Amino acid sequence: MAYDQNNIFAKILRGEAPCFKVYEDDMTLAFMDVMPQAEGHTLVIPKFPAEDLLDLDPAFVAAQALTTKKVVAAVKRAFKAPGVMVAQLNGSAAGQTVFHFHTHIIPRSQGIDLKLHARQMADFGELKKHAELIIAELAKDA
Ligand code: AMP
Repeated sequence: MAYDQNNIFAKILRGEAPCFKVYEDDMTLAFMDVMPQAEGHTLVIPKFPAEDLLDLDPAFVAAQALTTKKVVAAVKRAFKAPGVMVAQLNGSAAGQTVFHFHTHIIPRSQGIDLKLHARQMADFGELKKHAELIIAELAKDA
């Protein structure tokens, strides 16, 4: 399957669709998932047109991992999460629904089940507040 330049994350990268941004550098962008599986669910994407990990330019692999690590630290503190799940789906058979490579960062606590994947839209006011909490924690590490 060829990379679709009109997928929603490509539109976010081009500024044609909105997002609740928490972090950006030359190679990556991180923003709130609009259908979070838990409060604080954040996504990291490379500024490179790859559908999945197999398509990702090796030059972006380290940048993606570094941004993920930074955001995991901030999300963990912002949501006082005892655990953080990092997940990445490759192909519709694996459950991938947006075909621009991305890494999920999801705070986890014992006894709290994840909500269903990509199912229920969050309140945008809440997402904005959650993004601000993460941005404040990222600023402490800068
Ligand atoms: P995946 O199924 O691994 O491809 O994950 C795609 C994720 O993108 C899901 O968790 C969706 O909730 C999320 N998502 C879809 N559209 C948007 C959007 N416009 N902004 C932020 N997250 C989105």
